[in-house]
Amino acid sequence: MTDGPLTPAQQKVLDQLGADAAHRPTFDRDLRALLRARLDAGLAPSRQQLRDDEVVFVSKHSLGLVHGCEAHYLADRDEKFEVTLPMVIGTVTHKAIELSLHWQGEIIPADLVEHAIASLEHGDSWTTDFIQTRSEREKAELRSDAVERFTTFSECFPPLKAGWRPVTESRSTVELLGGKVLLRGKVDLSLGQARGSTAGKVLIDFKTGRYFPRHTDDLRFYALLETLRVGVPPRMLASYYLDQGELVTEEVTTRVLDATEARVIDGVRRMIDLVSSERAAVKRTGPACRWCPISGACIEGRAYLAGDDTDDHLW
Ligand code: SF4
Repeated sequence: MTDGPLTPAQQKVLDQLGADAAHRPTFDRDLRALLRARLDAGLAPSRQQLRDDEVVFVSKHSLGLVHGCEAHYLADRDEKFEVTLPMVIGTVTHKAIELSLHWQGEIIPADLVEHAIASLEHGDSWTTDFIQTRSEREKAELRSDAVERFTTFSECFPPLKAGWRPVTESRSTVELLGGKVLLRGKVDLSLGQARGSTAGKVLIDFKTGRYFPRHTDDLRFYALLETLRVGVPPRMLASYYLDQGELVTEEVTTRVLDATEARVIDGVRRMIDLVSSERAAVKRTGPACRWCPISGACIEGRAYLAGDDTDDHLW
């Protein structure tokens, strides 16, 4: 992207995310081994419950579900993965952001989005089939929504510099129990990197809508994956709310990682109990009943949905 004066919104983001070298935390070099040992020890008792061919995939989404309603987690696990328009809009926007890093000349959102769609449509991506089979009207909608998102991003987020080492849709996978459990994450944008044992990376997820506590849990999960992968935690976690141009940030500490690890161990043990039919799933009603695939057949969920319209903030 080209340099120029920052908007007040861009300057605010820069001030929130930046930290000079003297204010970057340094972590123990044994942290990765310690976290890994505790995860292995915490999950070892559950290993024998899994069949030889059973693999449990753990994402921020599945962790959130199993800590909410266990029946919802199981139902979601049985659902066929379907690509949706909002998912593809997000990926096209991220691709446009990625292209903007190396773009020569003026940034015109519609041009970048057009190139992003063409690249995904003719590439080998999980979005390729979806884009190729859209009608012209649907493609126009995709284009329009992605342009709006990219424009909102570029107005409020400072132009990304190559020296910040930006990476979009950065993926991490961590194998546990000899590959029987796979922790997987994909963060929208990462900036910076660790130096030695000193943290330097910022993990950022882009959000439409408003803040929910689960957004913090999601980013903490990514922070744990990053620490298990690299050995040094990210310096900061940030949810960026595109509609409002606002950041919610959290500094990563060993206490944050400890709490996240305990949540992951508890969640994975629940998952293993459920997929191995060790015990019945516990139902917990809540706002997530609205998008639960079995809500039509769930007596508790239907009763909840019939009387609820107030507690969005709990989920
Ligand atoms: S409808 Fe609600 S209570 Fe019932 S299974 Fe789904 S999330 Fe759980």
